[in-house]
Amino acid sequence: MPESLSAVTRRLADADSELARLVEDEGRRQSECIRLIPSENYVSQAVLDATGTVLTNKYSEGYAGRRYYEGQQFIDQVETLAIERAQSLFGVEHANVQPYSGSPANLAVYLAFLKPGDTVMGMSLPMGGHLTHGWNVSATGRWFNAVQYGVRKEDARIDFDEVRELALRHRPKVIFCGGTAIPRTIEFDKFAEIAREVDAVLVADIAHIAGLVAGGAHPTPVGHAPVISTTTHKTLRGPRGAMLMSTEEHAKALDRAVFPGLQGGPHNHTTAAIAVALREAAEDDFKRYAAQIVANAKALADALLERGFDLVSGGTDNHLILADLTSKAIGGKPAAQALDRAGIELNYNTVPFDPRKPFDPSGIRLGTPSVTTRGLTEEHMAQIAAWMDDVVTAAGNEDESTIARVRGEVREFVAPFPIPGWPTP
Ligand SMILES: *Cc1c(COP(=O)(O)O)cnc(C)c1O
Repeated sequence: MPESLSAVTRRLADADSELARLVEDEGRRQSECIRLIPSENYVSQAVLDATGTVLTNKYSEGYAGRRYYEGQQFIDQVETLAIERAQSLFGVEHANVQPYSGSPANLAVYLAFLKPGDTVMGMSLPMGGHLTHGWNVSATGRWFNAVQYGVRKEDARIDFDEVRELALRHRPKVIFCGGTAIPRTIEFDKFAEIAREVDAVLVADIAHIAGLVAGGAHPTPVGHAPVISTTTHKTLRGPRGAMLMSTEEHAKALDRAVFPGLQGGPHNHTTAAIAVALREAAEDDFKRYAAQIVANAKALADALLERGFDLVSGGTDNHLILADLTSKAIGGKPAAQALDRAGIELNYNTVPFDPRKPFDPSGIRLGTPSVTTRGLTEEHMAQIAAWMDDVVTAAGNEDESTIARVRGEVREFVAPFPIPGWPTP
């Protein structure tokens, strides 16, 4: 096997060389690319280690002290530790760390507060919301009466007059705020005012920005939204998983919805890794990390604007940038594919009021959580924007030699910034 195999994959190679080879290939890919997908990150060695423990062997249906299987002496302590760390980091009264991922966490919210056919309100997917906020192909849009809000055409900001008017007209029981492609600060206070007016439960889905909230780089929903849903694997930089946090008032309903309402046994190895990530996120270093994510995103946005990229809402307040490539005379998909060939990984995305189809939209979505984890700072962002411009132009001219040139330059550029869990070449 190649020299660069990490200790873990070397061991894995003894047992399953075919699979180990694929893990090795993916590790090399992650270390040689500039990864700009805003929902992704690189977790620490400690988070990786916790994920690969014997805790995966244990069934623990129920909650600490109230389990359906024996032998929970230590698992109860693991889960309690994760819960206490979540409560302390986010300043919430209640936390449930068992949801398997963000989508099941949101389904548990539906189960806790709604019956099929009840009205829910959320941001529509093409405007920046998530599938689980009531989009029509999702169970949440098919089994519930989903009312969807968007952004204003002029400035791509949420129109709170529209949100209020829709809420008054449709009287949703639950209102979701937050999303997957929102480059601006979520104004939790304004949503809270509307939710109060119509007596709806406000759910802040902070999946994308949880790390920014924890690190003080985005306002907290605590005090505005009584229910908070988040993934743990995006800016929060933990394992793939999710949490539901709430005021004491909603604790029981949410716990019951997660188990036994929706799930069986929690993934204890993931719970352990969540506990590790929450401890990391409580350190001063993480505050610096969160601030640097935003500083990098602003620097990258400025550099892209200078190169004639058209940014949705004109820039960013957080970790995420949405660019409309219409002015570059290329669709989002061919641009994203060319950038991937050049070692710059991001995703094609709809932009608000996109005239093109969702599988061939006008935009690309990118962000800085991963490159910031690697140690890149503002000074590196102009170079990334320059490569993006070169590649987008090259893709339009079928100029594969430029794309190959950038790929080589990218590989050299990131080599001094190692990723956790992977040996330096
Ligand atoms: C990522 C995301 C989710 C879903 O998370 P999965 O773990 O992919 O199921 C839910 N809501 C928002 C806003 C997200 O960004």
